[in-house]
Amino acid sequence: MNKPAELKLDTVPVWIDGKPVVPQGRMGEVYNPATGQVTKRVPFCDDAVIDQAVKAAAAAYPEWRDASILRRARVMQKFLQLMQANQKGIARLITEEHGKTLPDAMGSVQRGIEVIEFACGIPQLLKGEYSENVGAAVDTHTVRQPVGVCAGITPFNFPAMVPLWMFPMAIACGNTFILKPSEKVPSASIRMAELFKEAGLPDGVFNVVHGDKVAVDAILNHPGIHAVSFVGSTPIAKYIYETCARNGKRVQALGGAKNHAVVLPDADLEFAADALIGAAYGSAGERCMAISAVVAVGSAADPLISLLKKKAEMIKIGPGDKEGVEMGPLVSAQHRDKVASFIAQGKKEGAKTVLDGSAPPVQEGYFLGATLFDNVTRDMEVYKNEIFGPVLVVLRVDSLEKAIEIINSNPYANGTAIFTGSGGAARRFENEVQVGMVGINVPIPVPVAFYSFGGWKNSLFGDLHVHGMEGVKFYTRTKVITTRWPNTDAPTSRLGDTPAPGLNMPTLG
Ligand code: NAD
Repeated sequence: MNKPAELKLDTVPVWIDGKPVVPQGRMGEVYNPATGQVTKRVPFCDDAVIDQAVKAAAAAYPEWRDASILRRARVMQKFLQLMQANQKGIARLITEEHGKTLPDAMGSVQRGIEVIEFACGIPQLLKGEYSENVGAAVDTHTVRQPVGVCAGITPFNFPAMVPLWMFPMAIACGNTFILKPSEKVPSASIRMAELFKEAGLPDGVFNVVHGDKVAVDAILNHPGIHAVSFVGSTPIAKYIYETCARNGKRVQALGGAKNHAVVLPDADLEFAADALIGAAYGSAGERCMAISAVVAVGSAADPLISLLKKKAEMIKIGPGDKEGVEMGPLVSAQHRDKVASFIAQGKKEGAKTVLDGSAPPVQEGYFLGATLFDNVTRDMEVYKNEIFGPVLVVLRVDSLEKAIEIINSNPYANGTAIFTGSGGAARRFENEVQVGMVGINVPIPVPVAFYSFGGWKNSLFGDLHVHGMEGVKFYTRTKVITTRWPNTDAPTSRLGDTPAPGLNMPTLG
């Protein structure tokens, strides 16, 4: 049984039916990665709590589905204003629990807010199609209707942005929603739930639960949930996709990545090196769009590597809330150790260590320095795995063709980039590379909110990407209505040229 929250500072509540609640049962710990200290506790929900959330979302659904589109848009506009006013507070929660720097956290919340801006345009986005006279006195139109109760399961690395890819779109479309954020970073989601309520969202439309595999499995197997959006690592994404498909749920499951940047000899190498430093080491490499492999073509390699080394050595490492710090800690001790073991493995398997970040200058917390490996080959573990830390590997090739072949043979296909001064090379790359999001002299090509985000191959299981029009399509079902209204003032045209009823396949026109 749940009891109303006694909002202890150290326990992050769940949010069900418009209220904070602290369920009894298993608890997890939330850390400040910059100090290694436990700062809060978080409840790990079981089937009963998930069922409560589904009941609240199901009860709120009929009224929200039938609310006018303008009302839904106005609630969204108010939520947008509140998110803008509270952006810094949410960024602080992210820095405290994830470790990324405050300016980086601010930027990520901003990218999430842009999805709310897009969702404010829902009256325009939900317009259907209409064809007059598809037969005599017969018209056809389409409507986009919500799917029902939707759920989102999100990773640790973007505590606000990734949830914001999902729930504003789903709710603007008329669905109700249950969010299960990463148990490592639970607070930003609860803050957003409070703000959404303040914006006028009816209770039960947006709910937040916490936990691990137990909570996730309860979501995947609950018959009252109709669609699931997932973002996280590839093995879990595949599991989510398969389980939801088996259970008859609509599903989109975004997975991990190994993003390559090709640098051609005609690129502005200074510009490319600056861009790559940000893309590889920003957020300590814990971004699904981080560049973790550089494919240096021909004579670009030597000067590029010395520029990367020089710039990576200058990165200021420390707690994310300290002024001037550029790279914070990894999210957990376990993850820091895993990344460190990849650095050790890279040395063992013969990659050339240009920069070794395994002994960072900061003592407490989960820090690593920037690591740069040269002469990496495709059979090495440091290339094959998504390390998800501040480790950049360089592969040397002699042609653009070879670079494209390497990228296309990688099982991941989230993002990629090319740095070049040649329009022809860029065009060929754009055309031939088999990756979902491509940057041309842009290192992290995360699409703006009115386009859709998603990779190919092992980086996405499902068909529809998140936000933009594909987000609207994921959270709605199209219904096609065919209508006959004979003109009663002109009785002779009552039946038009429609054939008399019979057993044959009806035709129109
Ligand atoms: P994760 O897969 O470990 O966890 C993601 C979510 O799944 C969390 O909510 C977690 O509680 C849950 N989960 C974990 N293990 C589970 C299990 N065995 N069964 C059911 N649910 C489980 O991912 P993470 O470590 O939180 O995040 C990092 C990963 O997310 C990286 O691989 C990164 O590339 C990926 N990511 C991808 C994108 C994208 O857009 N493709 C965006 C951000 C992060």
